[in-house]
Amino acid sequence: MFADPSLVYLDGNSLGRLPVATRQRIAHTLEVEWGGELIGAWDHWIDLPRTVGDRIAPLIGAARGTVVVSDSTTVNFYKLCVAALDARPGRSAIVTDRGNFPTDRYVVEGLAARQRVTTRWIDADPIEGPQPADVAAVLDTDVALVTLSHVSYTSAAVADMAAITRLAHDAGALVLWDLSHSAGAVTVDLTACRADLAVGCTYKYLNGGPGAPAYLYVRAEHQASMRSPIWGWWGQTDMFAMGPLHEPLPDIGRFLAGTPPVLALVAADEGVALVAEAGISAIRAKGMALGELAVALADEWLVPLGARVSSPRDPHRRGNHLAIAHPDGEGLQAAMRGKGVIGDFRRPNLVRLGFSPLATRFTEVFDGLACLRDLLTG
Ligand SMILES: *Cc1c(COP(=O)(O)O)cnc(C)c1O
Repeated sequence: MFADPSLVYLDGNSLGRLPVATRQRIAHTLEVEWGGELIGAWDHWIDLPRTVGDRIAPLIGAARGTVVVSDSTTVNFYKLCVAALDARPGRSAIVTDRGNFPTDRYVVEGLAARQRVTTRWIDADPIEGPQPADVAAVLDTDVALVTLSHVSYTSAAVADMAAITRLAHDAGALVLWDLSHSAGAVTVDLTACRADLAVGCTYKYLNGGPGAPAYLYVRAEHQASMRSPIWGWWGQTDMFAMGPLHEPLPDIGRFLAGTPPVLALVAADEGVALVAEAGISAIRAKGMALGELAVALADEWLVPLGARVSSPRDPHRRGNHLAIAHPDGEGLQAAMRGKGVIGDFRRPNLVRLGFSPLATRFTEVFDGLACLRDLLTG
């Protein structure tokens, strides 16, 4: 049932591997809970969005009661963008960067089209990602929200969360961080950085499984004043009173919308539990060591053959994947697949190799880079 052990899997940053415990947990949820308890299982399923959120919280430096799991990253991102715009009436600009993940850019574009807000685009360095100075250059008193990915999905550049958040706050704006390539991979401290809002997926480094629901974070002090644009019954005070009017819960629960996908949520719980058990500092240390090995091999083997390292050189400023630029990146990636090495390709020319520290072995990094070398030498 598990992948061929000889497979070199360097794509855990797109879909993390299946943890052993997840099979049993899903089987239990299916057979004992759904099969046996039926509707009675909702007595405990109903807490899952909060309990899984509380399990994620320490991995991103968040306090208990500030994270819930439900909906997709895209939907959560939309909810928090609108909540932030509503919390800054009179301001009409959103700052983001052109290198941000497509769904984030598209949601911002859609809001701009509907809500008479404007987008202030940052054109950041494609390798180093958006810098504090790039953000400072577009901030003024009209900016309601700054939203960026903490780790770039292309180059893996890590943004300076503390400095950028401080700059935005000095200008009176809120900040929403997308942690999809951060949680379970790099150290994140939302509390110390005084971040307002965050979202992220559970199916990448958190190994939650395909389409597992995403998390959202709202700093405690904002919870009573901010509101989701989706007034669903899961965000309602005393949802089973089925009252006539929507009265949002006083806490993080108000950002829930509707019934969560329980099977996917228990899978996310197991993936998150595994990351929590290993500890984020050990995970980050191994991730950096994997990345440094990959950079050294790329310099020695691939650069002389016409490839370029298209990620930051400083391991502290690089997340857990490496982008390698080559004019025939697409062809190389396809040929690697044929040889049992799974990476991915991002246009126009990037081969992306992901190192998911819980699962990726040093030999996989070695074999993956050797495969690229052999393809380039023909
Ligand atoms: C993977 C990823 C997403 C995915 O969003 P979905 O709604 O789960 O499809 C969003 N943002 C970033 C930065 C990502 O890397």
